[in-house]
Amino acid sequence: MQKWVDLVRDRGWLCASWPPEYGGAGLGPLEVNILDEQFALAGVPRPMLGFGESLVGPALIAHASEEQKRRLLPRIINLQDFYCQGFSEPGAGSDLASVRTKGVVDGDVLRISGQKIWTSEAATANWSFVLCRTDFSASKHAGLTFVLVPMTDNNVEVRPIRQIDGRSDYCEVYFDGAVAEMADVIDGLGNGWQVTMTTLGAERAMGYASRHFEFMLEFRDVLGQLAETERLDDRLVRQELAQAYTLIEVVRSMGMSQMTRLLQGGPEGPEGTIYKYVWSESHRRMGRHYLNAIGARSTFRADEESYTLSAAQDTLFLGEGETIYAGASEVQRNIISERLLGLPKERKA
Ligand SMILES: Cc1cc2nc3c(=O)[nH]c(=O)nc-3n(C[C@H](O)[C@H](O)[C@H](O)COP(=O)(O)OP(=O)(O)OC[C@H]3O[C@@H](n4cnc5c(N)ncnc54)[C@H](O)[C@@H]3O)c2cc1C
Repeated sequence: MQKWVDLVRDRGWLCASWPPEYGGAGLGPLEVNILDEQFALAGVPRPMLGFGESLVGPALIAHASEEQKRRLLPRIINLQDFYCQGFSEPGAGSDLASVRTKGVVDGDVLRISGQKIWTSEAATANWSFVLCRTDFSASKHAGLTFVLVPMTDNNVEVRPIRQIDGRSDYCEVYFDGAVAEMADVIDGLGNGWQVTMTTLGAERAMGYASRHFEFMLEFRDVLGQLAETERLDDRLVRQELAQAYTLIEVVRSMGMSQMTRLLQGGPEGPEGTIYKYVWSESHRRMGRHYLNAIGARSTFRADEESYTLSAAQDTLFLGEGETIYAGASEVQRNIISERLLGLPKERKA
């Protein structure tokens, strides 16, 4: 994989949408889409550099100082810095502005204390971008700060969470006076909410018009598994596959129309919410269609020893999570009802 990443980097295709002055290829959404399509047609993955490329990169490009951009962005492309997202807490998930993790200014540093949860890739990341509260007297959204915190040798404890499938993709992260440089605060103290909004927007928009390529590879994989069996003669199995394929087409069409809006200069808008809602709910349903199509065999783990899941089982489990991160489906439906349908605002407790 490392060799593949190096090859793609040599072509200048890592972090393809970033501006060239920070090491990207400066490609627009349509060009990135074509790149995605070419990789998908060749049946090979387009390497993405995790949260560094997809989340903190766009936040830095939009909000960081010139010095921070030139210092931090190349380190992501050169694989020196791997980030995890330190947002969610036991009492702050959908209501993210309720975070209680504290940041106290101490000369040139911020001292961070508190607990994060569901932090993907925390066990391997060497940095976390953390949303913390630096002013407890300010209004809910105003006292928040977005800061980059080193994960190693820094009073940071990472506790992996064991999942039902045996893996540990997420962690609890405990900060006990961890030190972050003031130079790594993005957009200044108390301005963390706007940086966070950019980050969440990037997470929602991730892969506009590209998701279906990835879904189509999964579909072909399932079809390949069934090709030599008699299951394709089964009317019910064919129904399941046709439904999964239809969902992929729906995701493709919606992604294309959202990308067209953006190319025409339109704002992301609540339509972006519909896209996130539709692709994640559709992918969850695809997982069920695949398992039904494969039949009893799909209830066994591919490898009893290592807990390795088959691709179709993975789709099912990932699909569940996809309807939660980057804005849970219930929250997306609230946004759609309020901003697109003009229904009364939900009552907050
Ligand atoms: C696969 C995966 C990866 C993740 N990775 C990360 C990560 O790397 N970093 C990170 O910081 N977080 C991560 N998360 C956490 C994720 O952001 C939160 O789970 C998400 O924001 C929901 O918060 P919560 O779990 O606290 O649930 P809650 O917000 O407590 O919600 C519980 C339930 O109530 C519903 N609900 C909440 N508010 C409303 C409302 N106003 N109206 C109607 N229904 C409502 C929700 O939809 C949900 O069904 C990840 C989650 C998943 C599933």
